[in-house]
Amino acid sequence: MAEDFPALVLEEKDGRSAGRLARLTMDDLPDLDVTVEIAFSTLNYKDGLAIAGRGKIARRMPLIGGVDLAGTVVASRSPAFTPGDRVVVNGFGLSETEHGGYARFQRLKPEWLMRLPDVFSFEQAMGIGTAGYTAALAVDALEAWGAGWGRFVPGEREVLVTGAAGGVGSIAVALLARAGHRVTAATGRPQTHDYLQSLGATGFIDRAALAEKGPPLQKERWAGGIDSVGSTTLATALAQTARGGAIAACGLAGGADLPATVMPHILRGVGLIGIDSVMAEMPRREAAWARLARDLPSDLLARTMRVEPMSALPRLAEEILAGHIRGRVVIDVS
Ligand code: NDP
Repeated sequence: MAEDFPALVLEEKDGRSAGRLARLTMDDLPDLDVTVEIAFSTLNYKDGLAIAGRGKIARRMPLIGGVDLAGTVVASRSPAFTPGDRVVVNGFGLSETEHGGYARFQRLKPEWLMRLPDVFSFEQAMGIGTAGYTAALAVDALEAWGAGWGRFVPGEREVLVTGAAGGVGSIAVALLARAGHRVTAATGRPQTHDYLQSLGATGFIDRAALAEKGPPLQKERWAGGIDSVGSTTLATALAQTARGGAIAACGLAGGADLPATVMPHILRGVGLIGIDSVMAEMPRREAAWARLARDLPSDLLARTMRVEPMSALPRLAEEILAGHIRGRVVIDVS
C-alpha cells in the first residue's frame, strides 16, 4: 500500500470547518474492519458546506471529508467482505462524525458498505453519488405513496422537479422520465434547458415563479414532485399538488424553513415525504441502486457528470454553494 496518499481533511478554523489538502498514512485512518482502496469520491452540496465552513456538517475534527466513496476492498476482518469486492458507501455519517471518501484509502464498518451493481464503474457510481441515490430513493418513495395511501400514476399529470439542473434534480428528471412520467423541470438557469430536455424533461418553469409566497391552495397542477430547494419553493409545490399527490422533500438549497399551511394536506390529502439518504436502511439503498442500474442509461449518466482532481475541491465547494454546478462532479482521489 502507498506510504502516504493525498486526502482532504476538514479542520476547525475560527469555530467553523475548513477543507485542507493533506498527505496521510494508513496510521491516520480509524481502526475499523474493512479497508477500501478508493477509486473515486464525489462532490455533494453537503460536501460544499463542509469544505467552505457553512452549516455544521463535520461534528468532530480533524475529519477526512467526503460523503461518498467507491472502490475495492483490500483488507477485511469481517466475513461479509473479502479483498477484491467492489463497494460503494453513501452517507452513514461520513464527513459528519466518520472519516469519509476524500482519501486514497479508508477503513470502514462493514454495515456501511454496499456491493456496487456490476453495471457501474467506480466513476459512474460516483457520478451518481449520494445526490443520484437520493433521487432514486425519492422516486421509490413517490411510487410507494402511489401504491398505498395516495396517487402517483405515470402520464396522468406533470411531475415537478425543483433544483432540476443540480445533482439530485438531474438524476430525478432522468429517473422519472424513464418511469413514464411527464417531467417539468424548475430551474433558475435557462441555459440548462437543452441539457434537461436531453435527460427527459418535457416542461420548464422558472424557479422564481415557485419561490414567491402564494396562497395556501393553488390550481392543482402536479401529480407529485421531488424538491431539492425547500422554503417557499416547497410550500408552493405543495399548494399546487393535485389531490392525493405527494412531494418528496430532499433538500434545502433555497432555505431550511417551510412557510406553508396544512391546507393542501387536509383538503387535498397531499403528502409530504421526507427523504433521508444518510441513515436509510440497506434494503432501501439496494432498491434505489437497483433502480439506477435498471433505469439510468450510461450515455445519459455521462451527460450529467465530469471528473475533477481533489485539488479542485476548495473551488468546487464555493461553486456548488453558489448553484453554479451543473449535474454531478466526480472526484479523482489518486
Ligand atoms: P446542487 O447544488 O447540485 O443542486 C441544487 C440546485 O438547487 C441548484 O443546481 C439550483 O438548481 C437550485 N438552487 C440552488 N440555490 C437555490 C436557491 N437559492 N433557490 C432556489 N433554487 C436554488 O446540490 P445537490 O443536488 O447535491 O443537493 C440538493 C439539495 O439536496 C441540497 O440541499 C442537499 O443538501 C440536499 N440533499 C439531501 C439529501 C438527503 O438525504 N435528504 C441527500 C443529497 C442532497 P437550478 O440551477 O436548476 O435552479
